Amino acid sequence: MSEAKKGSRIVRFEYGGVAEPGLLLEDGRVEVLDAELQPTGTIREGARLLAPTSPHAIWCVGLNYREHAKETNKTPPEEPCIFLKPLTCLAAHNETIRFPSWAGRIDYEGELAVVLGKTCRNVPEAEALKFVRGYACFNDVTARTLQGRDGQWTRAKSFDGFAPMGPCLLYQPEMPQDAMLTTRLNGEVVQQGPLSDMIFSVSRIIAHISRFATLHAGDVIATGTPSGIGPVKDGDEVEVEITGIGVLCNRFVEED
Ligand code: MG
Repeated sequence: MSEAKKGSRIVRFEYGGVAEPGLLLEDGRVEVLDAELQPTGTIREGARLLAPTSPHAIWCVGLNYREHAKETNKTPPEEPCIFLKPLTCLAAHNETIRFPSWAGRIDYEGELAVVLGKTCRNVPEAEALKFVRGYACFNDVTARTLQGRDGQWTRAKSFDGFAPMGPCLLYQPEMPQDAMLTTRLNGEVVQQGPLSDMIFSVSRIIAHISRFATLHAGDVIATGTPSGIGPVKDGDEVEVEITGIGVLCNRFVEED
């Protein structure tokens, strides 16, 4: 079976009520891909993008950048600190993220997401990238007040829509080289750091999780946020940009 070209930017989009794979072009239009991810020449104008994968699980890593551990007054962990978000968190590029006013402070956390390409278990670190399908921008939206109050993170991380992801999947097993992660709040830079500042590498994280759980093709691993986390308010727009991938943009709306 042939495959899409390595380094291409793959999307999932909705057309006529059906999810289809596509290629995100430089001008923002989408070219339809066939089942083998080969370009068909058919262009879709104004296609509504979906999250670029349909996972069984959304795994996340807490405290994976030293500066972020510092700003939250936590000691960097000895091994990756893993938590989950339910699939109801998944949201697409340009989707509005709604949060209730009773939830207190809501924070953005710009992150790199890894998407698995093959199901795996007990993967050695040196082999781990062979199981990667690609990379996307991710926002690990967090109800910070509730995170402190609850003593564990489940409720704070699990509101509907609190895992926007996109706009596309950079289709390659290797991490984007020398990539910077930048988060902007209403156009102003609030987080910026190289992906190379991660405490635990993508390979290490895959090896770590697959020691205790099966990772399925399509699953997401969000790899932690750099320093500069902060709150959103009603009407704010948050962009997470990673060099070589693109810009994930979501508007936040507070509801009663
Ligand atoms: Mg996070």
